[in-house]
Amino acid sequence: MKATRRALDINYAIADMVFPMRELEAQGHEVLKLYIGDPNKFDFKTPQVMKDALCRAAETCDHGYTETEGVWELREAVAEREHRKNKLTIGPEDVYITAGVTESLQMTMATILNKGDEILLPGPGYPPYNLFIQFYEGVPVHYRANEEDGWQPDLDDLRKKINDRTRAIVVINPNNPTGAVYDRKTLQEMVDIAGEHDVMLISDEIYDMLTYEGEHTSPATFAKDVPVMVFNGFSKVYLVPGWRVGYMAIADETGVLDEVRDGIVRQLGLRISANAPAQVAAAETLRGDLSFLEGYRSTLKERSHYAWKRLNQMPGISAVRPKSAFYIFPKIECDFWKDDKQFVMDALKEAHVVLVPGSGFDPDHGKGHFRSVTLPPIEIQEKAFNWLEEFMIKRCL
Ligand code: PLP
Repeated sequence: MKATRRALDINYAIADMVFPMRELEAQGHEVLKLYIGDPNKFDFKTPQVMKDALCRAAETCDHGYTETEGVWELREAVAEREHRKNKLTIGPEDVYITAGVTESLQMTMATILNKGDEILLPGPGYPPYNLFIQFYEGVPVHYRANEEDGWQPDLDDLRKKINDRTRAIVVINPNNPTGAVYDRKTLQEMVDIAGEHDVMLISDEIYDMLTYEGEHTSPATFAKDVPVMVFNGFSKVYLVPGWRVGYMAIADETGVLDEVRDGIVRQLGLRISANAPAQVAAAETLRGDLSFLEGYRSTLKERSHYAWKRLNQMPGISAVRPKSAFYIFPKIECDFWKDDKQFVMDALKEAHVVLVPGSGFDPDHGKGHFRSVTLPPIEIQEKAFNWLEEFMIKRCL
């Protein structure tokens, strides 16, 4: 039986590494995995407060479907949190709970795109944006992030690419895959550009509390006349990616997104509800103790700094220092390989280190790069970078 083009055209660079990696493992090789952005796959543990809250929720909730838009107490807690952190003047009715940011992204693209509509995305950027836009017959248009400027968005490029078909500008800050934290002035200009062209902003803030240099600013804080959909969730900051809880918070003082909300609420109803006990537990923890974050951030900083230092010492590699999250996006400066895909495949086969090709994050502005995850403990990164270094010396000296 035939599958649709729509489904078969999904090429997710991160998932694409899994098959060749498994093959090597099946042959009995040790493979060092620097490709997956899930802290729980390494030695980061879900904070006890989260586990306790989930156990309590399992006792107290009725285990039925929840309200389609999300459990009210979680929507209230998110609205409070968005007010506290980002000064948003929204209420619980402006918050919709989804199965992770991924579902917010999917529903939003399904709602705002007609065939041929364009969405401006950071290049490089988190691949599912690109893929969902194509899934719903939209056109992803990447605006350049400037490597020489610490991967800040290139506003001239953004201005050149915005046009009558643009439906939204996506901001991913802190950024996956570069670890950049956008400065306030740049964000202010992005808001201005969106305002001049009457398009909305979609602001993915899933790493907002994981900065270790500089602070995260949400464009929604100062985007008064420009509608913003803030996407956030619990996966990364609260170390519960498997709970599948995220949200979209709609900051729209002018009401231009009313029809979009209607489209989203219809889809929320169609998929019934998000995970019930996880929503109840998330509400409790959002108002609770966040002291685990301090140790978490300092470990991330230490490991990210180590990766940055080691990668820059290798022949044929240079990397901008990340300021947040757990990724680094180095440039391949040696011309031994035809492209970044071949580099990454070769690194897997010869050095047994799993990385992700940069072109999977944007064919134009990601090519010639790769993404490495800086989550593994130093001893594991040390081993991986020793193997990679040997491989680079062989090919590039
Ligand atoms: N947004 C960004 C920028 C991400 O990097 C990721 C996961 O890596 C997600 C969203 C997915 O989030 P969730 O687990 O909430 O679906």
